[in-house]
Amino acid sequence: MIFNNYHQLKDIKFDLIIVGSGPAGISLALELEGQKISTLIIEAGKNNFSEESQKFYEGEIIGDNYPPLSVTRLRQFGGSSGHWGGLCRSLEEHDFSNWPIKKKDLDQFSDKAKKIINLRRNNFYTKKINENYDLVRFEVSPLRFRDKYRDKIKNSKNIHLITESYVTKILGNKKINKVIFFNKGQFFNLSSKYFVLACGGIENSKLMHLIRKNNPKLLDPNMPIGNYFFEHPYKKIGEAIIDIENFKNFLKKTKLHNSIKINCDGWFAVAPNKQFVNYHNILDSVMQINFVYTDLNIHKKSFVEKLKCIAPEYVRKILIKNNNKAMTLGITAQTSQKIDFNNKVELSKSKKDSLGIEQVNLFWKQSEMVRETYKKNIQELGKFFIDEDIGRVAAEEKIYSSETLDHDGGGHHMGGTRVGINSYDSVVDKNLKVHGVDNLFLAGSSVFASAGYSNPTFTIVQLSLRLGMHLKEKILYTKK
Ligand SMILES: Cc1cc2nc3c(=O)[nH]c(=O)nc-3n(C[C@H](O)[C@H](O)[C@H](O)COP(=O)(O)OP(=O)(O)OC[C@H]3O[C@@H](n4cnc5c(N)ncnc54)[C@H](O)[C@@H]3O)c2cc1C
Repeated sequence: MIFNNYHQLKDIKFDLIIVGSGPAGISLALELEGQKISTLIIEAGKNNFSEESQKFYEGEIIGDNYPPLSVTRLRQFGGSSGHWGGLCRSLEEHDFSNWPIKKKDLDQFSDKAKKIINLRRNNFYTKKINENYDLVRFEVSPLRFRDKYRDKIKNSKNIHLITESYVTKILGNKKINKVIFFNKGQFFNLSSKYFVLACGGIENSKLMHLIRKNNPKLLDPNMPIGNYFFEHPYKKIGEAIIDIENFKNFLKKTKLHNSIKINCDGWFAVAPNKQFVNYHNILDSVMQINFVYTDLNIHKKSFVEKLKCIAPEYVRKILIKNNNKAMTLGITAQTSQKIDFNNKVELSKSKKDSLGIEQVNLFWKQSEMVRETYKKNIQELGKFFIDEDIGRVAAEEKIYSSETLDHDGGGHHMGGTRVGINSYDSVVDKNLKVHGVDNLFLAGSSVFASAGYSNPTFTIVQLSLRLGMHLKEKILYTKK
């Protein structure tokens, strides 16, 4: 059932309140749907995009260049899945080295997660390319959670959704008793047995800060709320021209010809393996390599023209062979980040939104290791292309300069309320329960303790399904 007005649902009793209707909140609600568990999702935004709503996402960035916080996420039903790229891949085994759970604890939810996200292929495979590189398969889903799940939620007896309801306070003494939210010009409150914050990678930290501020005795004052935030630094690091014939021969030789198709819309992903990463002391990363077809008869000012100056003989040879046409590659890298206590989400001391709630400050720096990772990746790729006579690679000049590097991504907000064993260095336990509070849980990438190079949403959905299983047991047990 979907409402946008408090009075329509004020008499309903809820077992669980989920704050936020993005992929994390919706997946959790779906997991509990068939269980006679009455769930309410409280969503701040409207059904569709609105600039007025986005304003509540404004905040300050302190540190390296980072896109504005009001454009890197969507405050509407379905959350940021309204503009995500849909790239999915599960985390690797070693990405869990500092988590209290392991990859196998999430893998049991993979099939269900794929169904929820509309991923038709059933493999995130890894294939060896050579001693340094693996071909890693991402899957892509064009899914908008709002479009797929709106009718399901509308027709559900157990899932209730209220939109245009901004949760501003969560109150409790030993455990959480109620949430206070702003709807249609007034503040209201609602109660439930259990509460889950699924407000996205930055707002989860913000709400946890607000909970600590409004309930001084509820949370450990030293719990690192907002700390250990991290991203996936993302940047174009180079371009290449390939000799199609030689490239095809290489793919045949390495039996990768069914996995990489050379066409102008195609792309593939290459990740340096763990041995390479450890040996060079760089970060885990992946290069997304996309084919670009260039016809020099039409595209005069192309990268190929630039490359003609750098490797004139080689480029001329290829152009003659292909009638002035060339297949080039755009190479973009996505890296992990060194986990840093000082990368953090805090409440602003001076800026408030129009309801008087503190905006966030995001403190974020990339570290020089990101630049080193970009450099090492492109150098090694260049060497590999020459050794195999596949083509020639040109690096982006900026990564060799001393300029601060831009971050061309900005939508993967991870950490801030990370998972761990105790409240000294984490915020939630292995069941995603906030340390010290029996009925408060967190869902979403804010709980990640680290994340390698894979995009976060597949793991977010797996985690929500696991949380759903846990809450199901708890809620049904208390109903007996
Ligand atoms: C441009 C872009 C491209 C992306 N591409 C990819 C990709 O290719 N692959 C991938 O895996 N990920 C991608 N992402 C990231 C992906 O969108 C997020 O990981 C995902 O949406 C997070 O889901 P979530 O439910 O945790 O949070 P969100 O999607 O942020 O949803 C949180 C919800 O909570 C609501 N909310 C927040 N605060 C409150 C409050 N106080 N009260 C009530 N409601 C509240 C919000 O309105 C929102 O609906 C991309 C992100 C961006 C910005």
